[in-house]
Amino acid sequence: MCDLCRRSFIRGMAAFGAVSTLPSPLLAQAQTAATGRAGPLPARGEFVIRNGFVLTMDGALGDIPRGSVHVRNGEIVAVGADVNAPGAEVIDATDMIALPGLIETHWHMWNTLFRSFAGDEQAHGYFPTVARYGAQMSPDDMYQGARLSAAEAIYSGMTTVHDWCHNIRSREHAERDIQALKESGIRARFSYGWAQGQDDKTILNLSDVEAVNRDWKNHSGDGLLTLGLGWRGKFRAGPLPENVYRPELEAARGMGLPVTVHIQSRKDPPGQIEAHAKENLLGKDIQLVHAVWATPDELKMVKDAGATISIATTSDLRIGFGLPPVSDFLAAGIPCGISVDTSALIGSSSMFGVMRNVRDAENARTLSEFKLKARRVLELATIEGARSMGIDDKVGSLKPGKRADIITVTTRALNMGAFLDPAHLLVGSALPENVDTVVVDGRILKRAGKLTAVDAGQVVADARATVEDIRKRANWR
Ligand SMILES: [Zn+2]
Repeated sequence: MCDLCRRSFIRGMAAFGAVSTLPSPLLAQAQTAATGRAGPLPARGEFVIRNGFVLTMDGALGDIPRGSVHVRNGEIVAVGADVNAPGAEVIDATDMIALPGLIETHWHMWNTLFRSFAGDEQAHGYFPTVARYGAQMSPDDMYQGARLSAAEAIYSGMTTVHDWCHNIRSREHAERDIQALKESGIRARFSYGWAQGQDDKTILNLSDVEAVNRDWKNHSGDGLLTLGLGWRGKFRAGPLPENVYRPELEAARGMGLPVTVHIQSRKDPPGQIEAHAKENLLGKDIQLVHAVWATPDELKMVKDAGATISIATTSDLRIGFGLPPVSDFLAAGIPCGISVDTSALIGSSSMFGVMRNVRDAENARTLSEFKLKARRVLELATIEGARSMGIDDKVGSLKPGKRADIITVTTRALNMGAFLDPAHLLVGSALPENVDTVVVDGRILKRAGKLTAVDAGQVVADARATVEDIRKRANWR
């Protein structure tokens, strides 16, 4: 039980005068309710999603207007218009679109707790606020941030997230954040980063990263979670010394971990990608985040190195970084995914909203109604996002042999009427509450619009109590 939860639990129990008189099974039950700690995840069974408009996002299988997806023990075993699945539980998807679960590629899940921060002046902007709050966070606070984010992710149809964790103040901070991911049942990469406020001249505690990596079997939740490195690269507010950025990267490469780095989100200093390319720091294992001001020459370097890009249009718009040249990334042949980045900036962390912004901002930038098509953006949120994260052999499309990460979205809601083109409907209109069913690795984590393994009210209540406590400790507005 976290300290904060223990305090509120004891307060709650004391209100009933019941702390010492509760029989132990009840006490255990009450403790579970107070911590909101997840119970066991739903079992992976056998079921068939029937009568949906199936967007397989697979080139050969295409769209199936009245299709079915048959799942057994976490694996997709059949997809088609005519699927025979005797004995399988039927999930009726009439008037629904069935598609691969949405894939998110860069999200600072710990700071979702600061979603409603009052950042209307420079002194209280995003960076000073998350630094001030972040410095106060305990391992339990990290757990609450990741838990809130993961619950919202599943509710809104994400089945894979990239937890970009740049507030690791101790190994326990990392482990509690990972625990929240594991309990949620979501598929995720956890990228191990530095601590807010850490001096850029100080190297990451690499022995902690190595210890977590060695122990990964105990963290990975049946292999749903993988580990990566959240790297500072050569530039943050200023340049980093070589004796920081190089050993960090070499350590990750030594462990075979994928690496992610924020780069050229702002215009200055220019040439950040080129500076990395010149020192041979780019590669197939590197994900570049933002790249708003990448030049055409630099995009060629990214392509030649085999690196990928995580597009963060929504946060770029909110914080004023600029408009990322998404169609230039795509024209260069760089594998791309799209991302939430931070709920503190973007608010509601719906991938439908993120897709809409990616399309609309790119059309605005290029002065064209037709530049970025809804179908292409939907690919970025599914199969292309999976490719950019190196997991397209497992997920990203609905195809026999892949893991069962599937969502259904109702078209019966007012905001979804009426149905002409499914990709345009999803990108232009869909909201998290339109997601009816969410399946991750064969486990049904949302059904009939409700989370099955998480008490959403409890998650929000715990997050609210946590952020109030952090705010007091931080003495910040
Ligand atoms: Zn970021």
